Amino acid sequence: MPSVKLAPRVLENVSLLPYNTFGIDVSARYFVEINQLQEYIELVQAGQYAHVKHLFLGGGSNLLLTHNVDALVVKIQMTGIEVMEEDANHVWVKAGAGVVWHDFVCYAVEHQWAGIENMSLIPGTVGAAPMQNIGAYGVEIKDTFDYLDALNLSTLQMEHFDAARCAFGYRESYFKHAGKGQYLIAAVCFRLNKQAKPQTSYGAIQTVLDEKGIANPGIRDVANAVIEIRQSKLPNPREIGNSGSFFKNPTLPVEAATRLIEAYPNIPHYKVEGSTDIKFPAGWLIEQAGWKGYRAGDAGVHEKQALVLVNYGHAKGSEIQALSEQIKKSIVAKFGVSLETEVNIL
Ligand SMILES: Cc1cc2nc3c(=O)[nH]c(=O)nc-3n(C[C@H](O)[C@H](O)[C@H](O)COP(=O)(O)OP(=O)(O)OC[C@H]3O[C@@H](n4cnc5c(N)ncnc54)[C@H](O)[C@@H]3O)c2cc1C
Repeated sequence: MPSVKLAPRVLENVSLLPYNTFGIDVSARYFVEINQLQEYIELVQAGQYAHVKHLFLGGGSNLLLTHNVDALVVKIQMTGIEVMEEDANHVWVKAGAGVVWHDFVCYAVEHQWAGIENMSLIPGTVGAAPMQNIGAYGVEIKDTFDYLDALNLSTLQMEHFDAARCAFGYRESYFKHAGKGQYLIAAVCFRLNKQAKPQTSYGAIQTVLDEKGIANPGIRDVANAVIEIRQSKLPNPREIGNSGSFFKNPTLPVEAATRLIEAYPNIPHYKVEGSTDIKFPAGWLIEQAGWKGYRAGDAGVHEKQALVLVNYGHAKGSEIQALSEQIKKSIVAKFGVSLETEVNIL
């Protein structure tokens, strides 16, 4: 019997509440789940939804939805993890865009493949990870990234992007700038290290390992330490809506940075790799401006981590956006520093 191919079902007026970690209740005009890239290509070729924008959605953990979405929301669910190549020291592993990022990290840790364990528990999908070159605890995906496959939305042809073409920066990539809205990232290939070299110097990782008496940590120990630290510091989106860091940490040229440090001698600051610029923690600035724990209705600033804006229940996206604007203004007024938003506001 010939196999019957089922076209993906496009639904109308779907609540996006279960699909964004901020827990904002807006609806999508059209909504479809895509399990294979070909399903999306056929949907586009059929032309029925050419009159609206298409918005790709992974885990919805880097999005603030401020109104109903008059678009076709395409939930990316292509899964699969495949070893492409290996040698004595490295393994090249490719994962589908819809693979949950933390599941991919766990898979690597189980196989003793090092390089991404410091990014344990970052929410979201593999496909969205290159968008902002996700990073945590001294590591970014650019460090182990080999290439990605993306569908060019104008030609419907696949394109190969190596790291140079992705133009990764701090929470930045080509896909947030010149390539914005032009590609569907379908799969990402990483080059992981078989000779584990855990990086424990950043944040509290070493302290947690010392407390546990682990002198020679393996990558599983590092992953567990990162998970423990994150769970103690960051609100769980299942309990309090949030999108992690709302703002990027600002960097200043050395002269402006020196003036700021002279005015606030206790201000934490770090050298930016490969540049003379100095980076400052946005969370510190926001806390010093008195916002930590602030709440207006259901929109607020987390009580333990001032960089995280939260939805205590029924906040509208526009209320959280308005709060973020107030914070930005106050940071300019107090420190003369402009904060840039990390979260995608829609
Ligand atoms: C509690 C918490 C902690 C966090 N901690 C960190 C952290 O430590 N470090 C960090 O870097 N980030 C962190 N984040 C932010 C977030 O997890 C990452 O940015 C993540 O990569 C977003 O993935 P997603 O699948 O949820 O993307 P979404 O929110 O679904 O999408 C984000 C953007 O990417 C686009 N997009 C998604 N998938 C695709 C695709 N396949 N092709 C093309 N475009 C696509 C969307 O249209 C949107 O513009 C945190 C978030 C939360 C809630």
